[in-house]
Amino acid sequence: MKSRPMHPETLAIHAGRAVDPTTGAIAPPLYLSTTFEREPDGSYPAGFDYIRDGHPNRRALEQTLAALEGGRHAVAFASGSAAAMAVFHACGGKHIVASHDAYHGTLRQIRDVLPRWGTEVTFVATTSLDAVRAALTADTALLWVETPSNPLLRISDLTAIAAAAKEHGIAMAVDNTFATPVLQRPLGLGADLVVHSTTKFIGGHSDVCGGAVVGNDGQIIDRVQEYHKRGGAVPSAFDCWLLQRSLATLPLRVRQQSASAMAIAAFLERHPAVESVSYPGLPSHPDHELARRQMNGYGGMLSFCVHGGRDEAFGVAARVDTITRATSLGGVESLIEHRASVEGPQSHAPPNLLRLAVGLEHPDDLVADLAQALDA
Ligand SMILES: *Cc1c(COP(=O)(O)O)cnc(C)c1O
Repeated sequence: MKSRPMHPETLAIHAGRAVDPTTGAIAPPLYLSTTFEREPDGSYPAGFDYIRDGHPNRRALEQTLAALEGGRHAVAFASGSAAAMAVFHACGGKHIVASHDAYHGTLRQIRDVLPRWGTEVTFVATTSLDAVRAALTADTALLWVETPSNPLLRISDLTAIAAAAKEHGIAMAVDNTFATPVLQRPLGLGADLVVHSTTKFIGGHSDVCGGAVVGNDGQIIDRVQEYHKRGGAVPSAFDCWLLQRSLATLPLRVRQQSASAMAIAAFLERHPAVESVSYPGLPSHPDHELARRQMNGYGGMLSFCVHGGRDEAFGVAARVDTITRATSLGGVESLIEHRASVEGPQSHAPPNLLRLAVGLEHPDDLVADLAQALDA
């Protein structure tokens, strides 16, 4: 890669990629080999010895991810959950402070698993800097922030929180799955680590499970890498290949998904059957101003509450026919789900809330589908 600064669209296509020197192939080769030949003197000339320790397709993916997030190092995992676990393992210490409005699987790791490791946890509304500051103790080792949050799309001020973390010498990790590096680059705002479920927008086609940790600090990254190697939650070569292929279109996809989500949010906000809409692009959203400053767009995720309760929300989800009833997000197809029933009894999602992951269908067709489902 040239050393000129480049835009995400260009990095997504060229970082971590080169024409294959042995064949001239433009598309990256897929290497299925799990092991690599040693020289007579015992060395490994290409730097690879065994798939769990490092692999050409994984390294290429990691280079692209690092370039997009503006980080020096990226580590690709077998899932977003494995990536989060690696961060808790690397930085957990005696006490961690985490966003209470976060992905439910991460909340369960923090609530159920970390205490067994001897790590105390405090959940806070990271939308309030005062609440974050009040939760920090002399033992706090890690601050975990998810923004935009799930499912309420609340925005936390990464610059302000990172400054508070620095002041106390605490590592800060941001789950950037919803925003993607196209809309938000937390490392540039002062975070130490960025975590992704690459299963979502980065994969983009609902056919790969993966995760990643990106950062600059060599010491923290060494510990993440140790957990990766020793814990072994590494992605397959083909999954890495698919993810790198998907990254090439990430900026384009996310921009269209953001534009479509904005149109849908505006439609929903005007609909009489809708009680409220959570989308950071709407001026009515409580964190709209912050989102405008912190992000380069508002993303493809939104949630809305219908008038009534669980049954009315279920009714709307039952009637859509272009949009698919399924969990997950970031794919080409739009998905709708009743979040409270997916998350279970400890969910803080209101019973009348539906979460919509906007795909790449024409936004008018998605609005028409929602209109018939809401009008019925
Ligand atoms: C899906 C998701 C995760 C977990 O990732 P998996 O790949 O399913 O393990 C973490 N954070 C967010 C915001 C997610 O949406």
